[in-house]
Parts: sequence; structure tokens; C-alpha cells
Amino acid sequence: SVTPVSFTLNDLPLRDDLRGRSPYGAPQIDVPVVLNTNENPHPPSERLARALADAVAETAAGLNRYPDRDAVRLRHGLAEYLGHGLTTANVWAANGSNEILQQILQAFGGPGRTAMGFEPSYSMHPIISRGTGTAWAAVPRTADFRIDVDAALAAVAEHEPSVIFLTSPNNPTGTALPIADIERIAAAAPGVVVVDEAYAEFRREGTPSALSLLADHPRLIVSRTMSKAFALAGARLGYLAAHPAVVDALQLVRLPYHLSAVTQTVALVALDHADELLGAVADLRAERDSLVEWLRAHGFTVADSDANFVLFGEFEDRTEVWKALLDHQVLIREVGPPGWLRVTVGTPQEMTAFRDSLLRVTGR
Ligand code: PMP
Repeated sequence: SVTPVSFTLNDLPLRDDLRGRSPYGAPQIDVPVVLNTNENPHPPSERLARALADAVAETAAGLNRYPDRDAVRLRHGLAEYLGHGLTTANVWAANGSNEILQQILQAFGGPGRTAMGFEPSYSMHPIISRGTGTAWAAVPRTADFRIDVDAALAAVAEHEPSVIFLTSPNNPTGTALPIADIERIAAAAPGVVVVDEAYAEFRREGTPSALSLLADHPRLIVSRTMSKAFALAGARLGYLAAHPAVVDALQLVRLPYHLSAVTQTVALVALDHADELLGAVADLRAERDSLVEWLRAHGFTVADSDANFVLFGEFEDRTEVWKALLDHQVLIREVGPPGWLRVTVGTPQEMTAFRDSLLRVTGR
């Protein structure tokens, strides 16, 4: 056999700093109600699926050639979508914002350097950091999941991080950061500051995007994705906005032709249909707000959310609740501080299934 049982990962010449680590692992389980990875529940319309297929067919006729290495048309379209006076030179795109973050760490992190985040937050920030040999410094959030800016500034002075992650709205808590807090941390940062705005389109009224800070902060990077509000997680398209010098830096580490011609085509068609793809965002925000209200009315503790998911608790044994919900064919996510669970906002039918199951499971 080519897979003798006696040989394991431990027998490989794996890097010492990767030994004992766990991979990213949101369970992919086939149940009717999937509310565990913060996707948009609405698939593309038949009309859009047809437009995508037609455009891909056209692209297919030229697949003997490498794609546009610099994805210029797509970056131009993304810059137009973002507004704020941004141009093609300010924007970079990659296979999901995870690859954007990896390229940032390849360019600005690395051995002997430190990246910092405010936890609980997105689990891939430390995983990608360590994958690039970057040390990870975690600073705890307050009990209500805010960033204590004074504590943040002290940690920045202590660790001198080359990369600081500010996730807003934060995953898994849903917490948006006040712009003034981002500015204070950016002013003190010795390296680059990445505002991970994967959930930006779901913010409530009155929370501006960090895009408004870019003009005055050349070491600030705002990372975005088409995976959430744009309902395009399967296409794998993430992007960032920053000073053109940041984009120049990322060209040093990106693989040539990293963004396939098919991906670029799909993302361009998606931008052409942005109104349709983003059409459900208002409904999802309303559904989120009513879910928060409903959970509170039923005695759960709920974190304020500016995203398309809600963190709620607190449970003595959250694993038991998670498993019991799965028995009811409802998959949510066991993530965040002990005692809490995270549920993605789905369709009204999915939320009804979630609410009914949660009441049965918890006996409320
Ligand atoms: N940032 C945050 C905060 C996320 O929650 C996610 C997805 N869960 C990502 C980035 C990565 O998303 P993608 O690679 O699909 O763009």
C-alpha cells in the first residue's frame, strides 16, 4: 500500500513551528439548514447563473493563454464599487480575502516579526500568521467584545507588531469598531494595520467604513470579500484597498497568474450584477436585528451585531446545544468564548427552523 498506517504527520520533516497545530476546520455537514459559515443564503438567480455561464464560455475559448496577471479590469471595477475616490492602483484582488491576508503577511510579516489581533476574532488571522512564520500576539477584548484602546496601545508598544488586525465588524462577535479607535491604533502602529471588513455591507446605520481613513493613512489596508454580502463564496474573490505602494509590495509575493481567467470573469459579471447580488443585504440586516431581539426576549445573552451572524449564549455546555441543534438538522457554529454559539442569518424559513429547534433544545 502507498499509505502504510505506521507513517503519520509526525514522521514528516514538518517545520517545528507547525507541529501540533490544527487546520481551519468549520465542519461541512450536509443538513437542510446550514447556518455555520456566514454565507449569504441566496443562490444566484437563474438569469445570473446563465450570464455567468455565458461569460465563462467566452473565457474558456482563450484558456490556452495565462490570465491578466494584474487583473486590471477587475481591480478597476472593484475600485468603482468601493468609491471613496479609489482607483485601480489602490486595489488588489486574490482568491478570497484569506489569500489577500496571506499575501499581506508574506510581504509585511515573516520570521522575527509579530502580528497582533484582538480576540475573540477570526481564527484564520493567527493561522495565516503562523503559516508565514510570523509570531502571533493576542490581546483580549473587553467583556462586551470591544477593543480597549488604551490596552491596545500598551500592547502595540510592548510587541511592536509589523501587522495589526482590526476586524470590523468582528467575527465571531459582530462588533463594529468606532472609526476613532481605528485612527488611534493606526497612529501608534509601527507597521501596517489591516482592517478586515469582510462583513462591511451588513453594518448598521452610523458606522462608517475604514475606507474613509485611507487617504490620510498610507499604511492602512482595508480588506473586503465577495464571499458574504455579494453571495459569491464559491467563486473565491477577495480584495483590498490601500495606498498604491502597498499594492506594489504585494506584487513581490503574489504568485504569477494567481487569479484565474475564470475567476476574473466571474467576478466581473458579479460586479455587473451587484444590485441583484447585494439585493438581499437589507433583508438580511432586518432579519439579523429581529433575531437579536427574539433571542434577548427569550432570555439569551446576545452580542450587538453589525454582521450577518449573531453570537449568543451563555450555555453551561455549548457543545451539547450545538449537537442537539444538529440532531434537528440545524448546523450552527461552535466558536467564540466558552459558553457562546454563533448562528449565521439565513432565509426567513431557515431562521424559523433555527428558532423552533433552539426552543426545543433549550426547553425555553
Ligand atoms: N475575514 C473574516 C473576518 C472572515 O470571517 C472570513 C470568512 N469567514 C474571511 C476573512 C475570509 O473569507 P474569504 O476568503 O471567503 O474572502
